[in-house]
Amino acid sequence: MNNQLLLDNLRCIPDWPIKGVNFRDVSTLFKNPESLKEICDEMYEIYKDKGITKIVGIESRGFVMSSALAIRLGAGVVLCRKPGKLPCKTVQESYAKEYGIDTIEIHEDAINENDIILLHDDLLATGGTMKAACNLVKKFHPKKVYANFIIELVNENFEGRKNFDEDVEVSTLLQL
Ligand code: AMP
Repeated sequence: MNNQLLLDNLRCIPDWPIKGVNFRDVSTLFKNPESLKEICDEMYEIYKDKGITKIVGIESRGFVMSSALAIRLGAGVVLCRKPGKLPCKTVQESYAKEYGIDTIEIHEDAINENDIILLHDDLLATGGTMKAACNLVKKFHPKKVYANFIIELVNENFEGRKNFDEDVEVSTLLQL
């Protein structure tokens, strides 16, 4: 993969949204046709033979590549959203954040036991969000669950990967 192309097009914003956070702004990766294609091609290479039937995109930056890759793979897209955004009956999972509790949800008819699921989000930090998404997806008893991120933060005392169950295969394109 062309790491430099991604590094050259990733914008980092110090102290946003709060002091101490170095925010990795993937919108600049998405707006450049070359880095967008590089991400899509790389994800396709990783998952082309895995039999993925649905990609679960995490709100909201996870929606972008979920859609692009799903079309390449011939898979469907499932939206994993914050509460109150999905119109039909949902299955939920709550998890602890630094301050308070967050909840995510998926439509209850979105996944079935024959599905092979790829969970996707833009970035892995503590892994709390994706761990909750894994727990949520497993309530549907799919055949297999994979998890993918464009960026994995490894140099900021995050050990996000350690959060996942052993049966969930995790891949990331860029480690920072
Ligand atoms: P976590 O649950 O700690 O792994 O955080 C992952 C979620 O928070 C993802 O949806 C990211 O979009 C967002 N996030 C956390 N830290 C950052 C960061 N430094 N830059 C950009 N997004 C971040």
